[in-house]
Amino acid sequence: MTFVTRFAPSPTGPLHLGHAYSALIGYDMARAAKGQFLLRFEDTDLERCKPEYIDQIIDDLTWLGIAWDAEPLLQSDHLGYYNQSVECLVALGLTYPCKCSRKDIAAALAAPQEGVAHTVYPQICKSRKMAARHADDALRLHMDRACAALPDTASGFEELGRWKKGVYPIDEASLISDVGDIVIGRKDIQTAAYFLASALDDQRQGITHVVRGIDLFDFTHVQVLLLQLLGHTPPLYYHHDLIRDENGKRLAKRDDARAISLYRREGATPQDIRLMVGL
Ligand code: GLU
Repeated sequence: MTFVTRFAPSPTGPLHLGHAYSALIGYDMARAAKGQFLLRFEDTDLERCKPEYIDQIIDDLTWLGIAWDAEPLLQSDHLGYYNQSVECLVALGLTYPCKCSRKDIAAALAAPQEGVAHTVYPQICKSRKMAARHADDALRLHMDRACAALPDTASGFEELGRWKKGVYPIDEASLISDVGDIVIGRKDIQTAAYFLASALDDQRQGITHVVRGIDLFDFTHVQVLLLQLLGHTPPLYYHHDLIRDENGKRLAKRDDARAISLYRREGATPQDIRLMVGL
């Protein structure tokens, strides 16, 4: 089987040890399988993403000995493309307009932290009709309708990682109660929410294996649901363990102390980084 994977950082900060670990695992897997390794910048959060981080990430990855097999894809170049899929979900009758506060929406837009990073929406706008949509409304997925609209054939995904290896059917009950009516169409710019754009690009880039951290495992259910509603076949997933700090907390981009650029300045070699992350 062809193997195509990708590293998909959000350029909101410097590359740190956790990202290097993820990129190296994907890259090593692609090379071992004589497959392809692609790079994608998930930069639709126009406020937090910075071009200088893109340059720095490219420089750090190159220094680590990682190469990619096509021009990097920049999501901000394709906002209209993601919006087409939002409109498909509208046409399927699976959305409603929402004018709720920025606070609810910010949580759904942010790069996911542990699990699906948002609060369950309290369905304030659920009875609003699409015909009453305002230009500055966000669009929410009507989760119960979406689950009911899933094709009858088995829906779900295959997980190849060490931790939760197996086939995972879509857990409709938990999507309805724990995930709820997420924002899929953003109101700040006319495009899809972060996680939908990411799943669509996995299709567009022909990704066969999504290699990424176990913190995104719950989030995979949402992406697979959306892909299957849009008639796509989800890729295979490989969620790896996380690099944590001494307190057991997952490293985030704000952990600048573990930025690869800093280790580089202190004289570390790429091999030192591999050893540090246990590779
Ligand atoms: N853009 C996400 C991040 O920087 C990764 C998303 C993914 O691998 O699917 O954490």
